[in-house]
Amino acid sequence: MRFVAIASLALGLATVAAAQTTAHWDYQGKTGPLGWAKLDPSYQACAKGHEQSPIDIRGAHLNKGLQPIEFHYIAGAVTMENNGHTVMINVHPGSYIVAEGVRYDLVQFHFHHPSEEAVKGKLTDMDIHLVHKSADGKLAVLAVRLLEDQSKPNAVLATLWQQLPKTAGASEKVTEMINPGGLLPADRGYWTYMGSLTTPPCTEGVQWFVFEQPVTISRDQLRTFVPLFKINSRPLQDAHGRRIEANE
Ligand SMILES: [Zn+2]
Repeated sequence: MRFVAIASLALGLATVAAAQTTAHWDYQGKTGPLGWAKLDPSYQACAKGHEQSPIDIRGAHLNKGLQPIEFHYIAGAVTMENNGHTVMINVHPGSYIVAEGVRYDLVQFHFHHPSEEAVKGKLTDMDIHLVHKSADGKLAVLAVRLLEDQSKPNAVLATLWQQLPKTAGASEKVTEMINPGGLLPADRGYWTYMGSLTTPPCTEGVQWFVFEQPVTISRDQLRTFVPLFKINSRPLQDAHGRRIEANE
């Protein structure tokens, strides 16, 4: 028992030490997106990378060989965390997708206001990024764009928003089970391209899937989130001639 306690204490300290070695960043001012690469040597890709996200989706090539994404999402317990950059929902293990023959486990999802990805130059009110990881560490992020429609509140958000942690550092264990499948559009057609994390360290090699069909968020739901994060979106990045493919 004593060994376990010491080991977990050591792990806790290591986590704190790791967190202190990377610089604070934000969405505005000197620590905003244009300055990210200067804040920390480990953030170099934010300025030097040529496969950065988000991008404007346009000129997609239809590839009928792309398979539909297989969803194996299940309802489970979640915790919500306001990390000062967004509200992140950490999901219980068990939900996964299979995309192009690779299994990726759902780790967390979070929100941006306004949306990060644009389609033919147009942003939407918000977006959801569902972050998945394969057994060998590859990342796949699914982007669901949210459009305001007062008559159509989002049922999953209605549950989550009841316990939205409003201050940085706050977290909440959600009392109801959440099925992330309730966040997906009915039509699962997507665009896909190779990109990066949209926050420091802007690591590349991320497979992006952006759903063509947006889902709705009511004005009241939007108004609950916006005061917490007036802008928490990285500006559009140069596509540098990257190939964007559509599956339908
Ligand atoms: Zn994101």
